[in-house]
Amino acid sequence: MSTMPAASNLGALDAAHHLHPFSDMKKLNAAGTRIIERGEGCYIYDNHGKKYLDGFAGLWCVNIGYGRKEIADAVARQMNELPYYNTFFGTTTPPTALLAQKITSHAGPNINRVFFTGSGSEANDTWFRMARVYWAALGKPSKKMVIARRNGYHGSTVVGASMGGMKYMHEQGALPIEGIVHIGQPFWYGEGGELSPAEFGLKVARELAEKIDELGADNVAAFVAEPIQGAGGVIVPPETYWPEIARICKEKDILLVVDEVICGFGRTGHWFGHQHFGVQPDLAPIAKGLSSGYLPIGGVMVSDRVGDVLVNEVGDFNHGFTYSGHPVCAAAALENLRIIEDEKLVERVHDDVGPYLAEGLKSLEDHPLVGQTQSVGLMGAVQLVDDKASRKRFEDKEKVGVEVRNHCLANGLVLRATGDRMLYSPPLVITRAEIDQMIETTRKGLDHGWKAMKG
Ligand SMILES: *Cc1c(COP(=O)(O)O)cnc(C)c1O
Repeated sequence: MSTMPAASNLGALDAAHHLHPFSDMKKLNAAGTRIIERGEGCYIYDNHGKKYLDGFAGLWCVNIGYGRKEIADAVARQMNELPYYNTFFGTTTPPTALLAQKITSHAGPNINRVFFTGSGSEANDTWFRMARVYWAALGKPSKKMVIARRNGYHGSTVVGASMGGMKYMHEQGALPIEGIVHIGQPFWYGEGGELSPAEFGLKVARELAEKIDELGADNVAAFVAEPIQGAGGVIVPPETYWPEIARICKEKDILLVVDEVICGFGRTGHWFGHQHFGVQPDLAPIAKGLSSGYLPIGGVMVSDRVGDVLVNEVGDFNHGFTYSGHPVCAAAALENLRIIEDEKLVERVHDDVGPYLAEGLKSLEDHPLVGQTQSVGLMGAVQLVDDKASRKRFEDKEKVGVEVRNHCLANGLVLRATGDRMLYSPPLVITRAEIDQMIETTRKGLDHGWKAMKG
């Protein structure tokens, strides 16, 4: 029997003692937290037994769905065999070595090494140091600056939050730190004005060239971006954007860093998001779908360009975490990747449920509240809008998103709202029938949101 206190008491304990991430604690304590007790497939269950379809895969991560016994078994086996050993002093563990090989087998031929971390934020801190060490080893220690994007997200550590382009994060704690600057985002619907998406994609990509010229290429280490901005609102860039970015990085000789923390491991219908856009990163942070969230693990995929220098020129790279390559987390990730491979989940997203979600989202475009829908694989967004014809957005962007989200939640569907964009990122095992259910519940949420905004 469980010795857990009754659930009614848990809410009070949580309010009294648990500070939640990205939360206004006074408001949250007044409203009360939801207590999630159980998960199975694409569904989660709260302490009242209410069932929700999880359209968000936890936090973009539960790619194989909940309740997979194979992972629990793999973890138990590893726990019993060896619960922990470090990778610092000339040692490794079996699942860690196997996982490094397995990850790189799905990246392009020029990516053959992984540095392990405990999270996506640590992965971003790691490549930030690695990029500077790389340039210093090549005799160019002045190449230190990193260019990132407004409304990008790269985690919550000091470096992660600095590289991210979230104003509300920078406002707390005097960020960004020195050496990190931002350019615009490829958000055509909100910022493209009279330009076509293709023209706008080129225009914002060329901000990178301008920024490099302004700083001097001799001072710039790298450019970092998510293939598709996740937390920023599932913003799918125009097709012209990524090829131009890759061209500029090459021409100006700076490293291209693609943050695959969300887009990796099948989310876009490819193993990695950069494969969808046809570009090759020099460094790529990973986390989330790597273990489907069953245990925390992240890393940086390192191309031969950087890896060969690290291995052959640098000597000690004075960086690492107690849990870098943690054997139990690695065992969970290894089993997760086996499931993704054996069940052909990447192909399933690419050929079946990805296109089906796109169709479903498209069907919502007749709704007066919907300005545009976008998706790649199982990563999608619905742009809410005040006036379709002029692309005029609501004055109160938070309110419209929250209205739609809360109505969906009350009707058993978990979605995320980022301002006036509704975000979709369901488990990769979602069925067509479950996608139908997401779309139907969304439509009811949109009806509700329309009434709430327009009276
Ligand atoms: C979630 C996320 C991170 C941070 O990962 P954590 O595991 O939360 O530290 C970094 N980059 C992107 C693109 C993310 O979505």
